[in-house]
Amino acid sequence: MARREGEQRMTRQSLTIRSLRTQNRSAALAHLITARDGTRAEIAAAAGLSSASAANIVADLIAEGLVAETGLLASQGGRPTSVLEPVADGAYFIGADVGERGVAVELFDLTMTRVDREFRGGSTEESPDTIAHDLTDAVEALRQRNRDRWSRVVGVGLGLPGIVETDDAGVQTLYAENLGWDPVAVRPLLGHDLPLFAENGAKTLAKAEQWFGAAHGVEHAVVVLFGRGVGLGVISDGELLRGSASSATEWGHLCLDRSGPVCRCGRRGCVEAFLGAQGILDRWAAAGGRFDGSGWTAIGELLDAAQTGDPVAHDTVENLIDDLGTALGGLVNLFNPERVIVGGWVGMRLMQHLSPRIEATTRAASLARPGAQFELRSCTFGGDTVALGAAVMPLESLIAAPVEEVRSRAARAAG
Ligand SMILES: [Zn+2]
Repeated sequence: MARREGEQRMTRQSLTIRSLRTQNRSAALAHLITARDGTRAEIAAAAGLSSASAANIVADLIAEGLVAETGLLASQGGRPTSVLEPVADGAYFIGADVGERGVAVELFDLTMTRVDREFRGGSTEESPDTIAHDLTDAVEALRQRNRDRWSRVVGVGLGLPGIVETDDAGVQTLYAENLGWDPVAVRPLLGHDLPLFAENGAKTLAKAEQWFGAAHGVEHAVVVLFGRGVGLGVISDGELLRGSASSATEWGHLCLDRSGPVCRCGRRGCVEAFLGAQGILDRWAAAGGRFDGSGWTAIGELLDAAQTGDPVAHDTVENLIDDLGTALGGLVNLFNPERVIVGGWVGMRLMQHLSPRIEATTRAASLARPGAQFELRSCTFGGDTVALGAAVMPLESLIAAPVEEVRSRAARAAG
């Protein structure tokens, strides 16, 4: 009996030591990937480690092939200090932006530099069946071209156009109500035997901004995406807000006006019906605006016409700024962010032309105190970043645990 207790205590102790070492490895690797390089002393300071622990962890990461010494810094009076960097070729991640207009699949190295990409679709609207085909086909094309890298691909992340739920067994389902799709099982979408991760597209974008962009280094941020649809990711206390079953922050379908224009979700007056690209252009057309293009071109025509004094375009843009301020001010009151970060292809254009006005209307629509506590910024990454954000999911899995553990966990989830 005494022996058994002793054994259990030993197991617990070794588990604790192991999980501490895993945590230290995570902190050191995350620091090197975001900072791009660093010395052992910098890693120790950033990750809160003793210099002996930092040296051990760095030795582990070098042995895993993820980190290398790439240079020397002269130090005062002592031995020169080694500079460490992530090994670009040490691990790869696939991120896929799955939208109703097609599937963009991108391959990133450990420095999160895109090294290859493949696009499928674009001719017709996607459905769950065509997505499975296009995604599998695009990943296969990447595999054919990157055979020497393929054994180091950690996994595939999908940014999906709807709510992505994960059940207790790790099984994921996509609910894309506004596209009129029945619930879609996520795992069968990929006909490749790689660890698979999935998340709502706007939430993956918020992740990309948190790791590498405008939300880096803050604990509280709202990242809003204006494009064809409207999306939101909220970072609260450093974590992405998900709610009880992951649908939290489906802000695009928050009602601004019950008698407003009909939204793609079938309801009226949603944020998306006012501030999605089509909603903006419909209102311009209804006011008498005339334009030839659609999408990107037409939004550009609207902003140009407003700037050159076209009265209809001017009024449309004024209304747009007011609506935008009302919508963003609501987020400021709800979440008390340090940063409000605006992106998406429509959002980036609006920020480029109108950020001081957007800031003023947002502050005016917020309560005075939280309205004075945020800064407004554009997304670091353009409209086309869902794939990068999706690739952050397998990156996070590698940061959390060595690659063999990622693979065995994914195999268990796939059943
Ligand atoms: Zn809606």
